[in-house]
Amino acid sequence: MSNDIPDGHVKIPTTVKFTKLFINGQFVDSLSGSEFETIDPRTGEVIARISEGRKEDIDAAVEAAREAFDTGPWPRMAGAKRAKIMLKWADLIDQNASELAALDAIDAGKLYNRCKAQEIPAAANMLRYYAGAADKIHGEVLKASGEFHAYTLMEPVGVVGHIIPWNFPSNMFLTKVSPALAAGCTMVLKPAEQTPLSALFYAHLAKQAGIPDGVLNVVPGFGPTAGAAISSHMNVDKVSFTGSTEVGREIMHAAASSNLKQVSLELGGKSPLLIFDDADVDKAASLALLGIVYNKGEICVASSRVFVQEGIYDEFEKKLVEKAKAWVVGDPFDPKSQQGPQVDKKQFEKILSYIEHGKKEGATLLYGGKRLGDNGYYIEPTIFSDVKGDMLIAQDEIFGPVMSLMKFKTIEEAIMRANNTKYGLAGIVTKNLDIANTVSRSIRAGIVWINCYFIFGSDIPYGGYKQSGFGREYGMQALHQYLQQKSVVTPIYNSPW
Ligand code: NAD
Repeated sequence: MSNDIPDGHVKIPTTVKFTKLFINGQFVDSLSGSEFETIDPRTGEVIARISEGRKEDIDAAVEAAREAFDTGPWPRMAGAKRAKIMLKWADLIDQNASELAALDAIDAGKLYNRCKAQEIPAAANMLRYYAGAADKIHGEVLKASGEFHAYTLMEPVGVVGHIIPWNFPSNMFLTKVSPALAAGCTMVLKPAEQTPLSALFYAHLAKQAGIPDGVLNVVPGFGPTAGAAISSHMNVDKVSFTGSTEVGREIMHAAASSNLKQVSLELGGKSPLLIFDDADVDKAASLALLGIVYNKGEICVASSRVFVQEGIYDEFEKKLVEKAKAWVVGDPFDPKSQQGPQVDKKQFEKILSYIEHGKKEGATLLYGGKRLGDNGYYIEPTIFSDVKGDMLIAQDEIFGPVMSLMKFKTIEEAIMRANNTKYGLAGIVTKNLDIANTVSRSIRAGIVWINCYFIFGSDIPYGGYKQSGFGREYGMQALHQYLQQKSVVTPIYNSPW
């Protein structure tokens, strides 16, 4: 593949290098020989045919990971040595940032420049963060006196299954594998069927960096076959999943009815953004727009429900529409574009059908609401006002650039309406410290952003309340999800034992 930015709307980089399953350090065909197509959402055209992993391929990948865990060097290696390999992998990712960014742009419709400058470097930094922790994993001494000596060991949980979605293919990949590798686990990762390309490239770079065979296996395939084979596998010790709440529920069922594997879930959201009368209206409107159009709204923390206090509501609405009009939707390789196409036809049609639903439910379409152009899956930033809390567009996660705008009077009302959702992720705009403190304690959400939005960091724990899931990504919390504690107790010399 050329690292040049394709200049035309339909120009697809000519070679995709990796299209097969990555099992036990080798790129292999699926056992059934079947393949699936991955599609460019800029055009709807086929980019490449990918080997389709099914249950038998997951079995082979789990067997390789089991062998690597039970007898291989990775879990037994000194933490500093594991860290060295992870750091080398991070450097290789940085060196290949252009190619990785191009893969995510053609596969997922993500902005090429943003991927190259932000998402790929952030993914590499995730490895560096956890590499720094790999040699600092330790237990504690519990009894240093009396008749017994006791201490704890922190041991890797074993073979991990990672199942990831399509909205942040690079970030999701490294968010899952980095802490698991630092902990000494081995793993099988299934990328989303919509976006397998960068995952296979990461596997190739992992091998180059020196990750031993069998430690990291990457098996593209579909959810009900390959994904379900992971979550119900008797030899997988933990499953870490990011995706829809519906599938999260299935993963828990599968874990419960197989080997009671550990589960962590990052699921959907319908995040409230609360904007109070004292806010800078212009800045608040910019933040609210960004909150819904960033990554085309395909992000579980999108600020899809915006509550604005009545004193500034009219001015806010005017500014928001002005900003939406100026927002540039276009080819993700065009440096002027601020928003690319939705990931695939299914998601595109789902979003348009929610927009139709919003109109039928009686919400006012303030701006947008249509597809853009007649090629590819582009949708205008869309803003509904006069939205009632029980309307479908205010309750369901649309996962697209569709905002529900609502007016409130009091702080108590804002908190109550913000919490009227099965999900739990959120933001606030105010200069008033009392309001900020009160609301951040009252919102039932795993993350609250005050006067900012989409601030992620490998050291800031991230995850949901309620049906947005449980378990935390990032920070040392994530590392501990891949460790288990063992207590060791022994009599001391001269004890009656
Ligand atoms: P999904 O939950 O269907 O898919 C996510 C991953 O799970 C994919 O790898 C998929 O192949 C796999 N999967 C699907 N069914 C499975 C099963 N039965 N067992 C095991 N694995 C399975 O999500 P989607 O269809 O890609 O998107 C649908 C909705 O999910 C979106 O509209 C949005 O609501 C939500 N979503 C949330 C996030 C997030 O970051 N929280 C990311 C992507 C999608």
